[in-house]
Amino acid sequence: MRWARLDGTADIDAWEILESNRHRYRGRITCPETVCGKNLHWRKRSSDGRAATFYGEHADGCDYKTTSDEQVVERELEEVDAVINTCAEMQIRLDPAGGSRATSQHSPGAPGARGRTHVHRGNDRTVRAGSTGLRPLLRKLISSPEFRADRMPLTLSDGTRTTIADGCVHAAQYVFSPGTRIVWGTIARASGNWLNAGDPHEALPAVRVSKEALPKVLEHAGVQELADLQGWHFLVEGTFTLTQGNLPTPYVSLSAPNRIVFLPPSG
Ligand SMILES: [Zn+2]
Repeated sequence: MRWARLDGTADIDAWEILESNRHRYRGRITCPETVCGKNLHWRKRSSDGRAATFYGEHADGCDYKTTSDEQVVERELEEVDAVINTCAEMQIRLDPAGGSRATSQHSPGAPGARGRTHVHRGNDRTVRAGSTGLRPLLRKLISSPEFRADRMPLTLSDGTRTTIADGCVHAAQYVFSPGTRIVWGTIARASGNWLNAGDPHEALPAVRVSKEALPKVLEHAGVQELADLQGWHFLVEGTFTLTQGNLPTPYVSLSAPNRIVFLPPSG
């Protein structure tokens, strides 16, 4: 949103705030809706051209609290951008499968809330590590080639320390190695309990969905069966192994339904 309230009285325009002055506005910006009035945060214009904006959690009944698809996309990208812009490290947060956390930051004390560590220059607080869910991460990887090459430290959900560039690998570039990785790409084939990022001869990464995990995986994606996911984007976090046979193919046995997320082809 572009317009909000400053000190509860004056209108303020997100496009007019300078990055160098952002600390002056901290804690002073609120939602203009009287039923709401929640504190908002400012995000600068992004390098991929998205306009500067105010964002934050709105109260129930606030007109700005919306859940249209477009706004979900916006919010998820904002979640990742907020970590990139304000934190030194990114952490993977596993959200419960079947329900994405619409709002994730700025709830101190909540599980997975961004850790606020030290204070310097008066009120200018620096946040060390910020968390992101897997679906926001997938959106960002799809939309930003720059982000894919980012050397920001990344901690996976099992504590593995890596970077965004090394820890989030596109299926086409994946080279088998031990340890936990995030692999993302497009589902070329879905058959039985398997999701494959390529044709059989390509030996690209695959996911084996256990019978136990399947119902939650389908529910989370909003589809009837795995075959419906053909052509969708996917992102999985896990430890890969190789299939037996002439053409060993890396695959991950999905240990928990919340370690995989999907986005429809248009998303
Ligand atoms: Zn509001």
